[in-house]
Amino acid sequence: MPAIFKDKMLVRGIVFCLESDLPLEARSLLEDFRLAVNNAIRAGLQARVTSRNALCRLAYNDSRKEHPKMYSQHLVSAFEVAGSVLKNHRKRFRKGVTGRIPYVKRLMMKAENQAYKLDRKTGVIDLPIRAGCHVALRLVVSEYHRKYLDDTTLTLGSLTVLPNRVIVAFRKDAPKPYTPGSVMSLDTNEGSLDGVFVEGDIAKAVKADFQDVAIIQRRHHDRRRRLQKKKAHDRRTMRRLTRREGAREHHRIDHRLHQVADTVLRFAEGRRSAIVLEDLKGFKSKRSKELNRRLSMWPRRKLHQIIEYKAQWKGIPVVKVDPRNSSRTCPICRRIQDSRMGAEFACECGWHLDRHINASINLLQTAISNGMAGGLRFNPGAFQHDVMMILYEPAMAARSEPNGTSGIVGVT
Ligand SMILES: [Zn+2]
Repeated sequence: MPAIFKDKMLVRGIVFCLESDLPLEARSLLEDFRLAVNNAIRAGLQARVTSRNALCRLAYNDSRKEHPKMYSQHLVSAFEVAGSVLKNHRKRFRKGVTGRIPYVKRLMMKAENQAYKLDRKTGVIDLPIRAGCHVALRLVVSEYHRKYLDDTTLTLGSLTVLPNRVIVAFRKDAPKPYTPGSVMSLDTNEGSLDGVFVEGDIAKAVKADFQDVAIIQRRHHDRRRRLQKKKAHDRRTMRRLTRREGAREHHRIDHRLHQVADTVLRFAEGRRSAIVLEDLKGFKSKRSKELNRRLSMWPRRKLHQIIEYKAQWKGIPVVKVDPRNSSRTCPICRRIQDSRMGAEFACECGWHLDRHINASINLLQTAISNGMAGGLRFNPGAFQHDVMMILYEPAMAARSEPNGTSGIVGVT
């Protein structure tokens, strides 16, 4: 079954910097908000509740007493934040990860869309602090931000205020995906997406090379190891340093993966292509305890997540198929080989091709035979062995997006 897009609300969080420092009143609101969240967390833990409404009943009166002037909608949204912290804590607890009692350390606050106003022309946010006291937050608006502010199909969701920036959630109904006129099938590997692009009678190899992601990851992994050894006598410092390393690594890899996804999607959108990907779910359970494998799978999953999400946002059809035997099957005679071979797949029938690209052809054929490729067909004989289209390569990382990043906030 192709993915169901109907009635789905998509949310995208856009980060804005502020033109000046946060006004004092807003800063103390952040502090009060954090206190309210942490109080609600404590109350929720004791009473074993996690829902916003239950927390509200439980802690509203006390919180009101403690923060008598806080705008009541902010208080309610503090319960919402507390609820999600508690839910995560409970999930970890069930998985057997026994952590400390959770609390929010970062200064932050969240306001639902009724609790603030954003003038989309001027980029000024009107944030109520308490009765009779509002502050204006001036956003730095780049061309990238303009696209979201000016797009009238987008409505505003929640606002997250941090000491030096804000995140505005933009929402829209998922657009209906277009009917594809071509198809691109991609096999996801540790350092690249390798695949085939089929348009009419022509089939060409495509590649998005992101080898540097694995290199960045390995480098940070080693550095973290060294830090852990060096600071073994001082666990607090060690933990702080490794966490900082982790955040940096995460940020760099994330940025790279977004670039890869963007170039792939731009190509697909330009050619009205459907995208075929392997379903990575199957890899999860089996050997999840092997740390190295988990490390190497993480960017691939993340990349799929980004591609799928952005594709939904743009209305690009994405099809996921079971990858079983895709790297061992001959697309011509359907023989299945006993084991994987080297870089090249070669069959007794004479067919031979780069192993990854061969796998992508099998993914495509699975999609076609399941009726998921919108009536498009593919003839392996039409494959042009001498053509390779490079969609992305590490050198392109230097040309990065203008300031402003977007993250996945969630799908509801
Ligand atoms: Zn064969």
